[in-house]
Amino acid sequence: MGVMMESHYDYIIVGAGSAGAVLANRLSESGEFKVLCLEAGTEGSDYFWSRVPIGMAKLIDRPAVNWCFSSEPDEGSGGRRIPVPRGKMLGGSSSINGMVFVRGQPQDYDHWAQLGNRGWSYSDVLPIFKDMESYDGGSDESRGRDGLLRVTDTPPEISPLHSRMIEAAEKIGIPYTTDYNGASQEGIGITQVTINKGRRQSTAYCHLDPSRS
Ligand SMILES: Cc1cc2nc3c(=O)[nH]c(=O)nc-3n(C[C@H](O)[C@H](O)[C@H](O)COP(=O)(O)OP(=O)(O)OC[C@H]3O[C@@H](n4cnc5c(N)ncnc54)[C@H](O)[C@@H]3O)c2cc1C
Repeated sequence: MGVMMESHYDYIIVGAGSAGAVLANRLSESGEFKVLCLEAGTEGSDYFWSRVPIGMAKLIDRPAVNWCFSSEPDEGSGGRRIPVPRGKMLGGSSSINGMVFVRGQPQDYDHWAQLGNRGWSYSDVLPIFKDMESYDGGSDESRGRDGLLRVTDTPPEISPLHSRMIEAAEKIGIPYTTDYNGASQEGIGITQVTINKGRRQSTAYCHLDPSRS
């Protein structure tokens, strides 16, 4: 397919999904290593329904870009098989997902560290969260400004219902937060998304495309 295959690589990454694409980008950054990234899916970041955020509905059960797994029937699901979508293209599930950007709770990371997992406290992971993203809102202490993954706010005027919901929440004591990925996650706020200028920010687009050379 026009790609020159070499016979030796320093690293071989199997799966070019959220994790694999970032890893391929980082490992090849210095130019020091030869990196081979293998992906089972055949489509790339220009796949129309993946590029356009609203196309998510078209990707949820599309075998061309989705493994379309299903769960085993069990008692808890009333004997039903539940669909388990997973991306099968460059960018993996980041190319078909809901694009909602939520960091974990700081307390959860700290709890993992307390259980003995060194390197997983919130102060350990925060620099990595900051490095990965580029977001205009929030504070410099909490948010990254020049990472490869572009994160934006959903425009608040998207529907009058949103402002009514926020007002209603505040009336019952749930505070409005301008950045739920900042120092505290508590409260109600507008969803942050991995969408920029109407385009999905998959790892295929943000991490693989710029590192192809
Ligand atoms: C429908 C949907 C909606 C979601 N919504 C959100 C959301 O709004 N916000 C959020 O944060 N998260 C969301 N997620 C979850 C998030 O997208 C995933 O957790 C994340 O992308 C998983 O990354 P990963 O690298 O572990 O796996 P993936 O990104 O799935 O990557 C695995 C890759 O490996 C490839 N592969 C598998 N086997 C082989 C093989 N043998 N050889 C070569 N390649 C192989 C696959 O094709 C795939 O490309 C959603 C997920 C789905 C499916």
